Amino acid sequence: MKAAFFKEHGGSEKILYDDYRDPVPDATDVVVRVAACALNHVDMLLLDGRFPPPEGLPHVNGCEVTGVVETTGREVKGLTRGQRVIIFPGFSCGQCEYCLRGERTVCTRYGYLGAHKDGGYAERVKAPAANLLPLPEAISFEAGAALPLAMLTSWHALVAKADVRPGHTVLVQAAGSGVGSAAIQIARLAGARVMTTVGSDDKIEFARRLGAEHVVNYRTQDFVEEAKRWTGKRGVDVVIEHIGGDTFERSTYALTRMGVLVTIGSHDTHWGRLDLRHVYSKNLRIVGTNLGTILELKQVLDHVVAGRLTPVIDRAFPLKDTRAAVQHVLDRKNKGKVLLVP
Ligand SMILES: [Zn+2]
Repeated sequence: MKAAFFKEHGGSEKILYDDYRDPVPDATDVVVRVAACALNHVDMLLLDGRFPPPEGLPHVNGCEVTGVVETTGREVKGLTRGQRVIIFPGFSCGQCEYCLRGERTVCTRYGYLGAHKDGGYAERVKAPAANLLPLPEAISFEAGAALPLAMLTSWHALVAKADVRPGHTVLVQAAGSGVGSAAIQIARLAGARVMTTVGSDDKIEFARRLGAEHVVNYRTQDFVEEAKRWTGKRGVDVVIEHIGGDTFERSTYALTRMGVLVTIGSHDTHWGRLDLRHVYSKNLRIVGTNLGTILELKQVLDHVVAGRLTPVIDRAFPLKDTRAAVQHVLDRKNKGKVLLVP
């Protein structure tokens, strides 16, 4: 099959488009013919070596995949060739202390499609049958590929971790990103008021259309001051943060007393400082989360079918143009998700 893969770490120039080993399903696996695969920030970390692929190189990125069932392992039941599917990207062992507690995303042997295994920048990809959900007819392959990581992670962060309620005020960092554009919509669906940040003025109208009431250009405005102004000096109840560094530290200053910051990524840097006086004296909560549950992905699918959530697609590139797609994301030119289509 054809795939976009890399044999060395570096920038987009390291991505090759060529013949690659075909995935061979084990007894409980399914091979999916990829219809669409979305790019993610984690792909960039895998590519440049900040998060080297655990199984080594060469490696195929791509953790958000939709497609059709092509072949099934001999023990797989309930899935038929040609069926439209979406892949839940998290792998867990089902046996460790955390899996037994029902918290599979912190499994001691946790892994991601496209990180711990070859992913969807390819014509075909292999996944455990248990990770497949039917993709409703009402959701296109392209829209579906924007859901399994970006939309699901934002859902879990806001609904399960931050317990966002009607009337809450939420600051979502980086409206132009996949998680940002999803988080704005989910917070609004939960009845919250939303403010967000953008890096250029041409994204302001985009963020407003998603449901943000107040949009701040973080290059020309101070988002902490703006959060205070927007909430009458009070500060916001919740921050969804995925940038790290200075943005992480300053996000904590935008919180009101007993506010919660949910960290779901580190797009700029893995490091961030905390003023501990501020955390304990205001009883702040700093909460980490990754991905969500398969049940939550089903709930997200239902909301998308009903039109209450809309995955935001920036544009789709042909698989052979993966280099250009990756560079487009590295240059932060995208508003929403960037896709590859074989
Ligand atoms: Zn486990």
